[in-house]
Amino acid sequence: MKVLVVNAGSSSLKYKLINMNGESVLAKGIVERIGFDGTVLKHEGKDGQKIEIDKEMKDHTDAFKLVVEALTDSNYGVIKSMDEIKAVGHRVLHGGEKYAGSFIINDDVIAAIEECAVFGPLHNPANLMGIRACQKIMPNVPMVAVFDTAFHQTMPKKAYIYGLPYEAYSEMKIRRYGFHGTSHAYVSKRAAEMVGKKPEEVKIVSCHLGNGASIAAVDHGKCVDTSMGLTPLEGLIMGTRCGSIDPAIVEFLMKEKGMTINEVTNYMNKQSGVYGISGISSDFRDIWKAWDTEKNERAKLALDAFCYNVKKYIGAYAAAMGGIDVIAITAGIGENDPRIRKMIIEGLEFLGAVMDDEKNSVRGQESILSADDSKVKIVCVSTDEELKIAQETKALCL
Ligand code: ADP
Repeated sequence: MKVLVVNAGSSSLKYKLINMNGESVLAKGIVERIGFDGTVLKHEGKDGQKIEIDKEMKDHTDAFKLVVEALTDSNYGVIKSMDEIKAVGHRVLHGGEKYAGSFIINDDVIAAIEECAVFGPLHNPANLMGIRACQKIMPNVPMVAVFDTAFHQTMPKKAYIYGLPYEAYSEMKIRRYGFHGTSHAYVSKRAAEMVGKKPEEVKIVSCHLGNGASIAAVDHGKCVDTSMGLTPLEGLIMGTRCGSIDPAIVEFLMKEKGMTINEVTNYMNKQSGVYGISGISSDFRDIWKAWDTEKNERAKLALDAFCYNVKKYIGAYAAAMGGIDVIAITAGIGENDPRIRKMIIEGLEFLGAVMDDEKNSVRGQESILSADDSKVKIVCVSTDEELKIAQETKALCL
């Protein structure tokens, strides 16, 4: 059975075709700049063959048509006809309180995605454009919505309620939702497997450290707390997002700098994080380079602040769960940056977490990083959100 996984952004459409017999990736790619000049499809198909097609695409339907053409092309395609795609799994950012799992897309699911656009104004409408484009081109293929918030719906109320008047929650549904749920679900399950346990047997802190970063406390297979909130802005210091700050700073910036609310939002989402602190880049490779080659102090400050925040969350979640058995580290930074991993774990020996420096030298490879006698196992997991989406889709469509 072949499942197509789609992740639609406002001007992009990412896809991966997965053969569920063996869970191998047959093809993947991205259409960029949909609706703008210079639209391009970057496709990787048979035997890793890479092609690029520049073609005007006014909307997601045009883009999806071209994706299907690429997948079925007689030279670089990987399937003979579109009929081989038995189901499509769509990544959807926000499912609100209604969706604690994945669902076959019908009118109710579409209405809920629209309703939740108030919390994910950039993503949910874009995700819907992707869904509608697929429905136009493959009207008879079942489609599934996999929500980034779903895994966190098991959080107890004390963890998701904010200290605001209760009506903020009861009337406006303002609460912690959490994101990267597909990744945390995949990573926590995989981490348990790697240490020879079932997810129901362990307390895991799952650290998704990419450009967007979040942490989840996963107690016996269920998420009990997470660092992102109503939106992905809360929590850790990220690539360009500020993470948790004193909410009074919003008013302060508006008064002191004369910023509009949109400018403050942009400041906190796009100009902050390690990029804002370092003044160099949101990419950790660039920040390390500035420290390694010229001892740039702000670069070091950004790295220190990032790691200090992750460490604090690990400690907080150990307290929330009454201990931890596994710390799982994943995503672009987590999978590739041994120095950051070392800085995060250093000082957590009191919890029973001890890193083995040699084991920690791996990059882009799943492995156990902790010392043999470390009470808490530390594991590096390669997150695979698309595979998880494909698995959920298959489970619902077969
Ligand atoms: P997202 O999916 O949120 O865009 P990723 O999980 O792909 O993010 O992570 C991208 C980030 O990972 C980059 O911005 C960079 O900071 C970091 N990264 C990637 N490769 C390396 C590396 N070799 N060393 C350090 N950091 C890396």
